[in-house]
Amino acid sequence: MEQLRTDRRGSTLYIVVPCYNEEEALPETSKTLREKMHALMDRGLISEESRVMLVNDGSSDRTWELICKLHEADRLFCGVCLSRNRGHQNALLAGLMTAKDRADMTISMDADLQDDVNAVDEMLEKYYAGCEIVYGVRSAREKDTFFKRSTAEGFYKLVAKLGGEIVYNHADYRLMSKTALEALSEYSEVNLFLRGIVPMLGYQTGTVAYERGERVAGESKYPLKKMLSLAVEGITSLSAKPMRMIFWAGAGSLVTDLVLLIVFLIQAGCGSAFTGTKLLVFLVILFGGLGLTGLGVVGEYVGKIYLEVKHRPPFIIKQIVE
Ligand code: UDP
Ligand code: MG
Repeated sequence: MEQLRTDRRGSTLYIVVPCYNEEEALPETSKTLREKMHALMDRGLISEESRVMLVNDGSSDRTWELICKLHEADRLFCGVCLSRNRGHQNALLAGLMTAKDRADMTISMDADLQDDVNAVDEMLEKYYAGCEIVYGVRSAREKDTFFKRSTAEGFYKLVAKLGGEIVYNHADYRLMSKTALEALSEYSEVNLFLRGIVPMLGYQTGTVAYERGERVAGESKYPLKKMLSLAVEGITSLSAKPMRMIFWAGAGSLVTDLVLLIVFLIQAGCGSAFTGTKLLVFLVILFGGLGLTGLGVVGEYVGKIYLEVKHRPPFIIKQIVE
């Protein structure tokens, strides 16, 4: 049995929910979240100051109107409204950074209740046991379409291959303590892929498995175009490896070219003519290879500049005793 952190008892929880055109899902979602929050309060697991923070990501429907109505009817709900649509990752960050100064911990989840709210209990348990970050991990994705499931799982594997630290099958359903949020706030990059940055923070972490369900209402706000741009963002913001691959492709061409030259020369030695075509093939591969290696070298420097301009904190101090 893990040691419980008594100093954390009755912490204030903010559930942060980014909402983009979610007028259909909000009534059901708010009802479920209200019940959950009251159950947690009754059990003394979270303080009465705990809130559900709904972030309106520049919706074009009645989402913000609904959020304001929810807030007026019940102070459990509070709202943050962005000036325009900035995408899920930015909306989530806006909510987390606003909640940071008000809460002891936050849990981020989607507005469509695809993430099982009952996993919250286990997340809290891990928080009280000392975790600063608790990842919700999808154990089953039967409710997702085959296409969504296979592309998503392929993506997690690709990012891991490219050297990105990413928690397999974890989306943005996670608990973060105030300490973790403060560390996150030191990352000032604009090309944001939270799933890649959070594991960089360190600290004690835990995972909770849950089954991903179906959307309560409305349609997915992640069409293929947004999914692809999130995937590209994920890879390019975490890794400069694709550029290094260009270098190796160039180096590979040059080595192949050298082997080819040796073969041609041996053939010439055996009496087969070193024709103009052979020379041409040799030269084409030579200059192609040189071009690619040169590009790869430039890429190495661009990659370094890219990491520098992100101004990521080189370290985060967890504790000092003096
Ligand atoms: N979302 C957002 N801004 C956007 C797109 C989506 O805030 O531009 C929110 C959306 O309201 C939902 C969450 O991001 O709460 C995840 O979107 P969705 O459930 O549609 O994605 P899916 O589960 O289909 O991948
Ligand atoms: Mg969803």
